[in-house]
Amino acid sequence: MDYEFIAGNLALDFANTVHNYGSSDPGDDLKSFSELASWAQQAGLLNERESQELSRRAQTHPGDVATHFRRSLRLRQLVYEAFSDIAKRRKPRPGALAGLNSYFRQAMAEVGIQRMGNRYELGWEDHDRSLDRVLWTVTRAAVDLLTSGSFSRVRQCAGESCTWLFLDTSRNGLRRWCDMQACGNRAKVRRFRQRRRTPARGTMSASQGLVGQG
Ligand SMILES: [Zn+2]
Repeated sequence: MDYEFIAGNLALDFANTVHNYGSSDPGDDLKSFSELASWAQQAGLLNERESQELSRRAQTHPGDVATHFRRSLRLRQLVYEAFSDIAKRRKPRPGALAGLNSYFRQAMAEVGIQRMGNRYELGWEDHDRSLDRVLWTVTRAAVDLLTSGSFSRVRQCAGESCTWLFLDTSRNGLRRWCDMQACGNRAKVRRFRQRRRTPARGTMSASQGLVGQG
């Protein structure tokens, strides 16, 4: 499947792999470990070789992979809880921050300074741990967003049953939809239908329109 990366932040994109969070029929785009690997590859966190290695690992070490998959879904839930609260201008529920802190501490225990071309960055060197790197990178994106001023620009889509999160980088800060093409247009069509069901009084008929002409 093709995943969408519309949020402007990797952690929010990760949370957006669930549609209609909290509903009785949420619609999950990460139903298996192989879907998680596919998401990570599309997100640019794994190359093709790493993705293939992970598929092999899923065959040889199903227990490890299942544990990792559970941890990934837990992180996704924490990101969603924290940022959907923030989008509603509330403080994140304490459990969400505590949970993110625990992922963050694990990630930081493995982080090191790396030379990237002519600059230095924080990163994770151990290439055998590509699974962990995916989680660490998502965690870091969440933490960077929280600790930057940008967190106040986190929004939740105004779509009727859409719970997607995104970073509003519009100049006026009034972006309402995850995607104007999808949710924005659906809302417009709905408003249009509602107006048609209740036509405004005083609408000029075709015959009235002719009166007074010439
Ligand atoms: Zn939406």
